[in-house]
Amino acid sequence: MGENKITDDAIKRLDSLFEAFSIVADDTYVFICDMKYDYSRWSKVLVDQFELPGEYMYAAGVIWEEHIHPDDRMAYNLGVGALFSGNMTGHDIQYRAKRPDGEYVLITCRGTVLKDDEGNPEYFCGSIRNHSQRSYIDNLTGLRNQYGFFADLQSYIRNRIPVRIGMAGIGKLTEINEVLGYNVGNQILQYFGRYLVDNVANRGGTYRLDGSRFAVVSAIQSKKEFEEAYENVRTHFRKGVRIGDYDIVVELNAGMLSLDDFNVDDQTVYSCLNFAYGESKMIKHGDLVVFNNELTEKNKRHFEKFHAIRASITQGFKGFSLVYQPVVDADTEKLIGVEALLRWRNDDYGFVPPDVFIPFLEKDPLFPQLGEWIIEKALYDAKRLLEVAPNANMNINFSYTQLERAGFTDSIWKLIKKADIAPEQLCIELTERCRLLDMELLRNVIVSLKAGGVRIALDDFGTGFSSVGLVKELPFDTIKIDRSFVQHIEEDEREKKLLNHFTDIAGTFGAKVCVEGIETSGMRDIIKKYGIHSFQGYFYSKPIPMDELLEKIKTGTLLGG
Ligand code: C2E
Ligand code: CA
Ligand code: CA
Repeated sequence: MGENKITDDAIKRLDSLFEAFSIVADDTYVFICDMKYDYSRWSKVLVDQFELPGEYMYAAGVIWEEHIHPDDRMAYNLGVGALFSGNMTGHDIQYRAKRPDGEYVLITCRGTVLKDDEGNPEYFCGSIRNHSQRSYIDNLTGLRNQYGFFADLQSYIRNRIPVRIGMAGIGKLTEINEVLGYNVGNQILQYFGRYLVDNVANRGGTYRLDGSRFAVVSAIQSKKEFEEAYENVRTHFRKGVRIGDYDIVVELNAGMLSLDDFNVDDQTVYSCLNFAYGESKMIKHGDLVVFNNELTEKNKRHFEKFHAIRASITQGFKGFSLVYQPVVDADTEKLIGVEALLRWRNDDYGFVPPDVFIPFLEKDPLFPQLGEWIIEKALYDAKRLLEVAPNANMNINFSYTQLERAGFTDSIWKLIKKADIAPEQLCIELTERCRLLDMELLRNVIVSLKAGGVRIALDDFGTGFSSVGLVKELPFDTIKIDRSFVQHIEEDEREKKLLNHFTDIAGTFGAKVCVEGIETSGMRDIIKKYGIHSFQGYFYSKPIPMDELLEKIKTGTLLGG
């Protein structure tokens, strides 16, 4: 071991071998050992991570053994012993190694012995992979991945470097995979990544975020240059790209934003970018959507507002509250339920309406927490409401992204049980955006909720493209007609016709109808004639806090008209 001092020449050879080996993926480290001297060189990153004595070590195997989990040492020692005695020419083992913070991480160690002319073991070289270490490189495209993207984004924010960030993705990749095979799908992704590097980001960074989405970051290109670049890329892919034997027409979606405001964190920026991308995909047919970070009324930028809203979630939902709007029976005008509506306010921004921030939060990793908070709070309030109005229902709005989470229905059952209410008293309101979910998944969720007694309503009926289709496909208990369809019903004959039409559709599929936005007795009187089941609107009550609602019910002053 150490007594056999290594020569300068031997070190030089070791180093040149090391340089040749060490260019590998960034979560994989390299070691080379000159077996004659038992002298090794290890990757610096690994040495730093585990606080080893240095890159160059005598008897590295013994030093390393100290870090290995006692239960795994035997296997390790047998493996290393066999290598040095010449019985084995390679090894491939997994074990746990202890980091300086005391935590064990899983390591895969692969190595090969190189023999000299006489057949004696000369070098032992190999790689060590730390499975807990994040890779910053996407294996398929060779681009930086999502972790790399976030690391770079954090650095732009920290150093206050203004950049433009684009997110572009391939539409219908799943379909391409299914029809033409994964191999073709992968080749398209590689081609797309390469194309972005060459044609858009040649002076910036290109990243593969996940699945079919990529990001491009540039510190010099203007918004206009970005827009032009995207149009060119889009045209190129629309003409069809040649992959193997196929000419494939590829449709793209894209969003972008300018990062010129540094009082935010990387997640907020990502959520805004994601939102712009989602809008491009869902309503703009792939046109580039630029996230608007203009100044708001309060002279703050949207980024900062969203940042504050996100921070509220992490600070115990500070600033969030629920208010409740009564739903009344259309004939008797008696209370039959309430709808829970979310509110957010803070000192800097005052009150921010939910439809401003919910669509942007829908895909945010924090949203599930907020969603759960809403359900829990609303069910707790439902229990209080039931004490004074035993037949009332609680309607809760859900975003489609809440439904696609694994274990969603189980969590609903748990929360209903915890609140100690009957499932029949909960009604889940979904908007037409739920058509963005896989239809099978959506149907399964709805059918199992209904089987357990929960009711389902389709909200804002008529505002999207596919309302009728949805009502046909899914067993909704109620459809809620958006107030935009009845706003002028007192003077507009066409609104009456439309309403007639809507109630017909609902009747055909056995759903009840609720009309929202009843503001006057005149509206009520006309709408009543259309066989409507329930009403909601300022005429009856604005949304109010539960305490106030309970007080009004108790004092008989709720539906004063
Ligand atoms: P929505 O579900 O259609 O809720 C009805 C909206 O119409 C509410 O606005 C309500 O205050 C308003 N409204 C009710 N009656 C009248 C009326 O007679 N006249 C007028 N002009 N407006 C009336 P709000 O509370 O601002 O909520 C807006 C939207 O935000 C909701 O629309 C819903 O889509 C979404 N939202 C609210 N709370 C939640 C929530 O907890 N979760 C989810 N996912 N979305 C929510
Ligand atoms: Ca609603
Ligand atoms: Ca509605």
